[in-house]
Amino acid sequence: MNSYDVTVIGSGPGGYVAAIRCAQLGFKTALIEKYPTLGGTCLNVGCIPSKALLDSTEHFHNAAHTFKEHGIELDNLAINMNQLIDRKNGVVKANTDGIQFLMKKNKIDVLRGVGSFVDKNHIKITPTEGGEEQQIETKNVIIATGSKPTVLPFIAQDKERIITSTEALNIREVPKHMVVIGGGVIGLEMASVYARLGAKVSVVEFMDSLIPTMDRALGKELKRILGKIGIEFYLSHKVTGASREGDVVTVTATSPKGEEVKLEGDYCLVAVGRVPYTAGLNLEAAGVEMEERGRIKVDAHLQTNVPGIYAIGDVIKGAMLAHKAEEEGVFVAETLAGQKPHINYLLIPGVVYTWPEVAGVGFTEEQLKEQGKAYKTGSFPFRASGRARASMDLDGFVKVLADKETDEILGVHMIGPRIADLIAEAVTAMEFRASAEDVARMSHAHPTYAEAMKEACLAATDNRAIHM
Ligand code: FAD
Repeated sequence: MNSYDVTVIGSGPGGYVAAIRCAQLGFKTALIEKYPTLGGTCLNVGCIPSKALLDSTEHFHNAAHTFKEHGIELDNLAINMNQLIDRKNGVVKANTDGIQFLMKKNKIDVLRGVGSFVDKNHIKITPTEGGEEQQIETKNVIIATGSKPTVLPFIAQDKERIITSTEALNIREVPKHMVVIGGGVIGLEMASVYARLGAKVSVVEFMDSLIPTMDRALGKELKRILGKIGIEFYLSHKVTGASREGDVVTVTATSPKGEEVKLEGDYCLVAVGRVPYTAGLNLEAAGVEMEERGRIKVDAHLQTNVPGIYAIGDVIKGAMLAHKAEEEGVFVAETLAGQKPHINYLLIPGVVYTWPEVAGVGFTEEQLKEQGKAYKTGSFPFRASGRARASMDLDGFVKVLADKETDEILGVHMIGPRIADLIAEAVTAMEFRASAEDVARMSHAHPTYAEAMKEACLAATDNRAIHM
């Protein structure tokens, strides 16, 4: 029986990163994955394929709507859905092959099949596509089995017309009318993809705002901007059912006034969140305890109640984000090596890859109000940015929240061009506990979108924005 220092179950961004860091630290490491390719939800049916489709459809939308203004004239513009999906599949393959290469490079044993506990130090691997079952011995285990889409019990998902995000990444036609249940990150990203291709898209959201966990100003602005590409929104609407007859799906919802709303389309995407995935792990055999909402219970070291068994990523509490899972993978590996790693959960940024992009880090204005914290605000709109004018990306703003007394930056919330990258500046500043004036006094290259961050910090410092 093969024996390992660390066995990681699940090869998503949590699992594969944990495995690499363990190998770097000299642990004999195994990685178990039941799916035919490595990379988990993120690389196969999450972050990467969705961004590939978002990029392709953004090009198409620009070609149709803004190229002319740039003086670029195109005749017979058309979309080839097969090519669009094939390219996306190619992007996914390049990324998942890359993980396979990294496993080999780091001498990590990849074991194919479903991993389940026999006891706390023995794992059984059952191949999903035939082959021999095997068992390994291990000193430590890192559970990184991720999550799966939440199912609404009153909606039968046939995965053809009433679908999850996984199927929404593989539609080889432009829907006539897609009804999206859920105005969160995944729902809005997929809504953007299909609206840009010319589909009618309706988003039905239970809460009174889009992306409701982020700073409220962002959801409000995003709704206005996405409305311009034709997406219609039904906020504060409670979905009561979705059914299919032939190629027609009907979604019913109750409006805030208590009236029944009926939406007919050819696709219904259910995007109401994700739930931790632990099926098949046989956690009972190891005695691992769970907590609410199907999550594995962990302590501050991400260790479960069983010494030597850790859990990371979507399967535990916290934001369901790839970069959060990655940080936790490194954290556990370094903890096992006797180091004292640290994760600042407040500074894990949240990003929505619509266009314009949306991102936030730190406290929202609503949270500061709730805490009774004295704060000040500085905002800068992209319409006042020279760079944004040059690219015709005038929507959105950067909003900085700073401590009223100390000027320390407490939160940064942005909506605008390329701010998925720009948010890294806010994270860096906050990690070093910068004041708004610190950032305001740093030189930012001109003309860049990043100048909006400097200007918002100037505005927060003493209402000193220059270009506004
Ligand atoms: P996962 O990536 O879910 O990986 C878990 C792996 O474990 C899977 O491969 C699964 O097959 C395997 N597994 C499960 N059980 C077993 C078992 N018993 N034995 C063996 N293998 C097992 N996050 C971002 O940060 N940015 C984004 O842009 C983003 N976009 C997204 C878009 C979509 C459409 C979706 C659905 C998600 C997106 N996410 C994004 C979320 C991100 O994908 C997850 O937060 C991330 O993948 C979680 O990583 P993980 O390692 O915890 O688990």
